[in-house]
Amino acid sequence: MELTDRRFLVTAASRGLGYSVASVLVDEGARVIICGRNQDALEAATDALGGTAHYVVADLSKREDIARLAEEVNGHFEELDGLFVNAGGPRPGRFDDVLDSDWADAFQLTVMSAVRLTKSIVPLLRKSETPSILYSTSISVKQPIDGLVLSNSLRLSVIGLMRTLARELGTIGIRINAVCPGYFSTRRVQELIGDNQKMAQEIIQAIPLGRMGEPIEFGRICSFLMSPLASYVHGAVVLIDGGIYRGMT
Ligand code: NAD
Repeated sequence: MELTDRRFLVTAASRGLGYSVASVLVDEGARVIICGRNQDALEAATDALGGTAHYVVADLSKREDIARLAEEVNGHFEELDGLFVNAGGPRPGRFDDVLDSDWADAFQLTVMSAVRLTKSIVPLLRKSETPSILYSTSISVKQPIDGLVLSNSLRLSVIGLMRTLARELGTIGIRINAVCPGYFSTRRVQELIGDNQKMAQEIIQAIPLGRMGEPIEFGRICSFLMSPLASYVHGAVVLIDGGIYRGMT
C-alpha cells in the first residue's frame, strides 16, 4: 500500500477496531503510535504489534490528555502522514435512559475528541507530502441503531466536521474521509449484545453477507484509505458493513 516508513497516529487502539488498523499499518511497514487509557493493555498491544509501535496513555474525552498526546507524537515523529480518529463508544441507552450528563460526556468523547485531535495534529500533518485524516464513526450515521440514541445523534457531528474539513483542508492537500463500521466482532459489540442470543441472531440475519466482520477486514480498508493509493478519495463516507445498510444512496 506504499506505507513503508510512513508515520501514523491511531487512537483508541489497545484493542478492537483501532488495534486492527494499527496492525495492518505495521504489517505494511508503517511506523505507528497508538493510544488508549490503560497502560497494561497498551503495553500488551504494542508487544503484539511486534515491538515497533509506540504508545501514549491518554483519555480522549479529556482536553489535557489530547494536548499531551499531540506533544508526544510531535516529539517522536515531528511530522505525521496519517491520523486515524477513533474513540470508545458512547454509553448505550434509549432516549428515556440517558441523562443530561450522559449527553455531555458523550459529546466530549465522540465529538470534542475528534475536534481536538484534528486541531492539535493538523500542524504535524501539514509537514507530510501525503497527509490524511480518517474518522471512524458508525453505520448509525446512515440508519439509527435501536438503543443507541447517543451514537445515533452525536456521530453525525463528526460527519459534518469531516465534510467541512474536506473543503477547508483539501485546499492544502490534506485528504479527509470517514468510515462507518457495521458490526465487527469486538469487545464493544460483545458487551452490547451480552447473552441476548435473539439480538445476536437478528443482527446476523440483517447482514446480507450473513456474518459479522472480522476486525482485520476493517483495518485493511482504513489503511488503504489513508495510503497514497487512495490519493483521489476525499470527503467520502465509506461503509464497511457487510451490506447491512438498506438505504438507496
Ligand atoms: P472496543 O471496546 O473493542 O475497543 C475500544 C478501544 O477504545 C479500546 O482500546 C479502549 O481502550 C479505547 N477507549 C475507550 N474509551 C477511550 C477513551 N476515552 N480514551 C482513549 N481510548 C479509549 O471497541 P471497538 O469495537 O473497537 O469500537 C471502537 C469504536 O467504534 C467505538 O466508538 C464503537 O462504538 C465504534 N463502533 C464499533 C463497531 C463494531 O462493530 N465493533 C461498529 C460501529 C461503531
